[in-house]
Amino acid sequence: MQFVVPVLPPAVLPVLGTDALFPVHRIYCVGRNYVEHAIEMGGTGREPPFFFMKPADAVFPVAYDTVAELPYPVMTADYQYELELVVAIGKAGKDIAAADAMQHVWGYAIGLDMTRRDLQAEAKSLRRPWDTGKAFEQSAPIGPIHPATDIGTVGSRAIELRVNGHTRQKSTVDKLIWSIEEMILFLSQYFLLQPGDLIMTGTPAGVAALSKGDLMEGEIEGLGKLRLRIV
Ligand code: MN
Repeated sequence: MQFVVPVLPPAVLPVLGTDALFPVHRIYCVGRNYVEHAIEMGGTGREPPFFFMKPADAVFPVAYDTVAELPYPVMTADYQYELELVVAIGKAGKDIAAADAMQHVWGYAIGLDMTRRDLQAEAKSLRRPWDTGKAFEQSAPIGPIHPATDIGTVGSRAIELRVNGHTRQKSTVDKLIWSIEEMILFLSQYFLLQPGDLIMTGTPAGVAALSKGDLMEGEIEGLGKLRLRIV
């Protein structure tokens, strides 16, 4: 096979404790999935789930034992964090019943839905797509994938983001408005879910802007810490 332009390497995430890799296919993101964040973004907390996407190569793999350097992106003056539980899909499916949904989950990770909030806000007000605000390069820093067989149920694990040592987001993942099973049910009605798909499940309240030099430390109980410095 000959390609007429260079073929880019696939987007991958490491699997914790192994040399194996998880190949990233699509990144589905869920909007406003914690009541308090929905309210801080101007909603009521009772809307049905909605989705947007990031491209696979927005993934920015972050090892646990490092402080990764994340460049402040271009074309924004309001660069914001959203700490999220990430669900990694291992098995294809469409019209998946909630009762069968967990059979499609391969693993979990901790991730950040990085957002150029000023561009997203402009897109919202003009009724335009969110891509420039959400789907840019390095907009999805994610830690290693933990196999679901190691994690068991996600339950009510704590989720917390600190910036420069100060707690900015703090909740538990059982406060998701739409559960993992329900998100898989809804998404698989609209799209054919594929192995390699990631679902970023939404962020708790407390989103705010970052500056160069800020140190972010995200943590989900049992899924490790994600540490990044904005440069
Ligand atoms: Mn988000």
